Amino acid sequence: MTTASKINLLGLPLDKMQAFFTTLGEKPFRATQVLKWIHQRGVHDFTEMTDISKKLQARLAEVSEIVLPEVTWQKDSQDGTRKWVMKMPGGSAVETVFIPEDDRGTLCVSSQIGCALDCSFCSTGKQGFNRDLSAAEIIAQVWLAVRSFEGKDEVRQRRVTNVVLMGMGEPLMNFEPVMDAISLMMEDNAYGISKRRVTISTSGVVPEIRKLKARTDAALALSLHAPNDQLRDQLVPVNRKWPIAEVLDACNDYMAGLGDKRVLTVEYTLLSEVNDELEHAHQLAELLRDTPCKINLIPFNPFPNSGYSRPSNNRIHRFRDILQQAGYVTTVRKTRGDDIDAACGQLVGQVVDLTRRSERFIELVESGGTAAARAHLRGEQ
Ligand code: SAH
Ligand code: SF4
Repeated sequence: MTTASKINLLGLPLDKMQAFFTTLGEKPFRATQVLKWIHQRGVHDFTEMTDISKKLQARLAEVSEIVLPEVTWQKDSQDGTRKWVMKMPGGSAVETVFIPEDDRGTLCVSSQIGCALDCSFCSTGKQGFNRDLSAAEIIAQVWLAVRSFEGKDEVRQRRVTNVVLMGMGEPLMNFEPVMDAISLMMEDNAYGISKRRVTISTSGVVPEIRKLKARTDAALALSLHAPNDQLRDQLVPVNRKWPIAEVLDACNDYMAGLGDKRVLTVEYTLLSEVNDELEHAHQLAELLRDTPCKINLIPFNPFPNSGYSRPSNNRIHRFRDILQQAGYVTTVRKTRGDDIDAACGQLVGQVVDLTRRSERFIELVESGGTAAARAHLRGEQ
């Protein structure tokens, strides 16, 4: 997405943009000007930046660029959901989904091409892992979505008010680019989305959850999916490294540090006759007793050869009722966009798998932690 010698300004948050202008011998206020041009006015040609001198425009074009991925496919679902497939350099593609609701519009953004964590019920995981997205490639999804609704009557009701990092990939396995991208989402000179409306969703990478509070105050969602370690070990293999108690402790610590009334979102994908029994609901209610949270139940979205099925509505409702009776705010996520394969866990892009995923990942985290695992995933031994 970037020419080797030029820096792609699309992915620079305010502090890095200011540092960039300082190295050019320019005043830091140039950073806010350029951020506004790129992210608020959608300009990617320096010559259109009219409050910047011709001389500086030319200098910027010499050392930098504003490059966006190519949208290769876009489709609207009958329920108003819109999905884009964006082609990234290297040939793989990622998916982004916009979900309009009465009072908001949620954009579901990808953070990696594929995912190495190989949760047993997730089609992204089944595709394997190719590579991390850069900050530019992550924020480009927001840029393109915002632009795609501009200049039309639909612009008002189709605004991107919320962003969730619930597309392809595990955001906390791509920490720095994700931090830069969410900083741009929340930046007043860029998208200005409130910290309550930008959500990082994680399957539980504990050391990275612990790093979060020094870097952001975005909302956090934990993909729990099981009320005990024995079952979670099977569904979410990363649990073998960081079991439930450690994950909940790390999440509670982050949420407590926010100093406001926000609570953790616990996501629980319901798999028929696997994790949706009455005893699982009771165990979950017990498990979360000391975790201020709201629970979001996601009925499984099927994909070919998954080996799982979606529970009946009766089973979903009895599971929800138990949690509600135990005092938890519990919602069942409406399935959206499934006619265009845009529902949770159906995002697959086109991923060239470069790993053997979870077995190797688990071996690596056991031997040397995430840094070693990540180096390996990047192809370094
Ligand atoms: N890697 C992150 C974010 C991406 S997955 C995470 O795991 O949290 C976003 C959510 O979709 C997660 O809660 C995930 O467990 C859920 N999900 C994955 N596959 C699914 C499927 N087939 N049906 C329903 N939900 C699924
Ligand atoms: Fe990766 Fe999340 Fe899918 Fe698990 S559920 S494989 S962590 S994207």
